[in-house]
Amino acid sequence: MKKTGAVYLVGAGPGDPGFITEKGLSRLRICDAVVYDSLASPRLLDEVPDQCRKIHVGKRAGHHSMKQEEINRLLVELAREGLSVVRLKGGDPFVFGRGGEEIIALSKAGIPYEVVSGVTSAVAALASAGIPVTHRAVSRSFHVITGHTAGGGLEPDIDFAALARLEGTLVFLMGLGHLAQIAEALMRAGKEASTPAAVVHGGFDSTVTTVRGQLSDIAARADAALIQPPAVIVVGNAVDILGE
Ligand code: SAH
Repeated sequence: MKKTGAVYLVGAGPGDPGFITEKGLSRLRICDAVVYDSLASPRLLDEVPDQCRKIHVGKRAGHHSMKQEEINRLLVELAREGLSVVRLKGGDPFVFGRGGEEIIALSKAGIPYEVVSGVTSAVAALASAGIPVTHRAVSRSFHVITGHTAGGGLEPDIDFAALARLEGTLVFLMGLGHLAQIAEALMRAGKEASTPAAVVHGGFDSTVTTVRGQLSDIAARADAALIQPPAVIVVGNAVDILGE
């Protein structure tokens, strides 16, 4: 009888391969195929067995990434071949990782799957920069927001008035290209121009680049520092607890 395949959605963590969980690594070490994104550390591919199929589906300069529907189909097909498939994703599979769409497709196709959580950049990139995502009496909540839409623009439905009212830490993923617009929109909605803000490009082999400033000047500072994606934008008083 043909072996039944399965798909493991594994969070690789952000950048530094050391962020993957032991559980994720154990799945990777015995898989027959790995379907990976650009944001997952390439060093993790050294962990798969020699005969494992390695399939890159993320964006690379000059190449288009595979469409989500095609990825869903690929996962189903590989599992139907009886393979143990690791779908390796940067950060956590469910934090803007489209993992939800993949489990819907797998579930519809009757393929067994497991989700292995990962360390999300929304928390870990801040930690690499010494910014606690919450801090007693300063930030009692945190909010993770996409700064980018499928169409490429700034998400039109972001309720900046609601965000501006929050005292918690605001974390924007995929927002570097729209940093000036995000800062502007928050100030227009009433957030103080002096609110501490930072941009963090983090976690790659333990290196981190952090640019700090205020809402009013963070875009100019990030530009001047030539900070590169992927980067996380952080807004709120937790950015400045050390008084830097
Ligand atoms: N699932 C991922 C997020 C995918 S969206 C997670 O949980 O981390 C991609 C966005 O994540 C990037 O645009 C950037 O905002 C953020 N990101 C991913 N890796 C990062 C890194 N090493 N440093 C800073 N930000 C990162």
